[in-house]
Amino acid sequence: MDLWSDAVASLEAAGQISPEDLAVYFQATSQVRYEPATRRLVVRVPNNRFSRWISHKYGDLLKAKLEEMGYPDTEIAFLADLDEPQSTLISSPRLSGSYVGAAECALTQRFTFANFVVGSSNQFAHAAALTVAERPSRSYNPLFLCGGVGLGKTHLMHAIGHSIKIEHPNVNLAYVTSERFTNDLIIAIRYDRTAGFRQKYRNIDVLLMDDVQFLADKKKTKEEFFHTFNSLYHDQKQIVISGDSPPHEIPTLEERLHSRFQWGLIADIQPPDLETKVAILRKKAALQQMELPDDVAFFISSNTKSNIRQLEGSLNRLIAYSSLLGEEITLDLAQSTLKDLTESSQRVITISEIQRVVARHHSLSVSQLISRSNSPRIVVPRQIAMYLCKELTKGSFPQIGRAFGNRHHTTVLHAVRKISRLIKDDPLLHSTINKLTDEIS
Ligand code: ADP
Ligand code: MG
Repeated sequence: MDLWSDAVASLEAAGQISPEDLAVYFQATSQVRYEPATRRLVVRVPNNRFSRWISHKYGDLLKAKLEEMGYPDTEIAFLADLDEPQSTLISSPRLSGSYVGAAECALTQRFTFANFVVGSSNQFAHAAALTVAERPSRSYNPLFLCGGVGLGKTHLMHAIGHSIKIEHPNVNLAYVTSERFTNDLIIAIRYDRTAGFRQKYRNIDVLLMDDVQFLADKKKTKEEFFHTFNSLYHDQKQIVISGDSPPHEIPTLEERLHSRFQWGLIADIQPPDLETKVAILRKKAALQQMELPDDVAFFISSNTKSNIRQLEGSLNRLIAYSSLLGEEITLDLAQSTLKDLTESSQRVITISEIQRVVARHHSLSVSQLISRSNSPRIVVPRQIAMYLCKELTKGSFPQIGRAFGNRHHTTVLHAVRKISRLIKDDPLLHSTINKLTDEIS
């Protein structure tokens, strides 16, 4: 788990890290490892100036954020690339600290195929990833992994990376997030080093590009990515991309790219079922040498919606409490430390909440959503919202109808039936509904 990137990303999302600081300082940092026993988070920085500056300016914020993420009292230990003996850095790529060169993000050690639990929800994506890892450039190219937050896309990409590096140590493999790509490009443009940027990105043998939905929605970035893609593809280099939705739903991807994805394979990951969640928890606990009783694993799994990152967060919190209190992990302890899990699942969801989330997701206002308009752009989201109201609230058909601009109850009934039917053969709609449900609850 990349605690460091997660913490930095969420501070950035909250506007607590300025874009300049992000580009100049945080871009050149990466997590080396997290040591649960000592609660040390080891972070690589190019030199000591970075660590002094980051601790001084962001130390407290970062610690507070880590605590909020379920990692209280974390000690952040900086490892300076240039000031430390190299032996401590074995097997992790070095960051040069020069911006154009610093494109790679490190692969997380734990994200291997061996640590990945296969269930019906991710079987297909797993098989595709494995095939690409075994036969880079000779099987599916590009491979596009899509799925909601915390379902294992990054894990699979890193697993491909590890596996290829073992089999082909001389391959020039780069794992980059699309934010990193964007930042690199911005900096290259600012310092007039676009040639260096191109040379770097077009000389890669295996490009793993994570979270392509975060590619900046700018003409320049889109175009540069398009050309990078084409150049690599043309040279028969393996490309693996992840995104939170299928390519044609991602506005930051050039339209010209959509057809390119038909050349390869689009593999989606669905939210895990209960058994898979339990199996994942067992695996995660075993990796930390912890014993996890069955009833506790079931308790956590059945109270966590679908996001595996949350599942893991709950487990880590439980492990932290158990060692802090010196108590064994039991169902009682789990129920008391993870009280908020059951509380949030009992939280009452309202119709207006659903309308807000669905409207925002489709870039509509609530008044548009409940208006009389019959434009398809509005009708489908409206039907989705009605369906979700029926699924997630206790509202009756007439009550829901009233909340949607005084519509007749048969209109609601029709919408619910239609969406239920469509979900069955439309994986896209299915994943949208899952995403919305997650966000609402
Ligand atoms: P995404 O990139 O899709 O948002 P991640 O790959 O970061 O999600 O996964 C979130 C967390 O869940 C990671 O810690 C990852 O190891 C874990 N995880 C996801 N899927 C699995 C799986 N099938 N088996 C084991 N761990 C998983
Ligand atoms: Mg990810």
